Amino acid sequence: MSDSSALYQEILLDHNRRPRNYGPLVNATRVERGVNPLCGDELTLWLRMDGDVIADAHFEGSGCAISRASASMMTGAVKGKTRAEAEALMERFRGLVTGHGDAGGAGAAGEPLGGLKVFAGVARLPQRVKCAVLAWHTLHS
Ligand code: ZN
Repeated sequence: MSDSSALYQEILLDHNRRPRNYGPLVNATRVERGVNPLCGDELTLWLRMDGDVIADAHFEGSGCAISRASASMMTGAVKGKTRAEAEALMERFRGLVTGHGDAGGAGAAGEPLGGLKVFAGVARLPQRVKCAVLAWHTLHS
């Protein structure tokens, strides 16, 4: 394991232990539930839309560390983004965790993944991909 994957592991564990944006969102304009039956992950996602912009995003749920950390980081990442920007970010994230696409390349177009790159290791764990994308699929819904 390289130094960076050890660091990534630590970031994931930290988000799992102390999830950001956790708990029901007052004044939410959207509520959506997501389930990953393969692993037993469940989450509820609250969004407050301000026109086309995601003004705020919260989640609550139970599941494995990857699903919780992913939801924690996703809610932070999409805040302030337009619907189209969030969709573009989801596509890049999906590319990252499935090992397809040019998620981190210097010449890559679209939304930079930034801290979401900590999920790159999931590409080596095919059975965990659904855990990582659950929050994003729920957002998409
Ligand atoms: Zn899971």
